[in-house]
Amino acid sequence: MDFDSIYLEDCPCCGGVGSIEEEGGWCVYVQCLDCGAHTGAVSFEGQEELLIAAERAAMNWNARKVIAPGPGE
Ligand SMILES: [Zn+2]
Repeated sequence: MDFDSIYLEDCPCCGGVGSIEEEGGWCVYVQCLDCGAHTGAVSFEGQEELLIAAERAAMNWNARKVIAPGPGE
């Protein structure tokens, strides 16, 4: 899947680069490649919903709704 069309702001925690990650074929989230901050996972069913779910995760990221990496995570 190509997520290049989805715009991502810089990481709200560290200003790093966010990356859309697909996990297990059922959910996507956005994660910072530098500090590990991430959005909640958005579940999807089938490839048609994958892009929608990815855009939803990107919206959360761009709205700064992220979970900061805590100690021990
Ligand atoms: Zn970061």
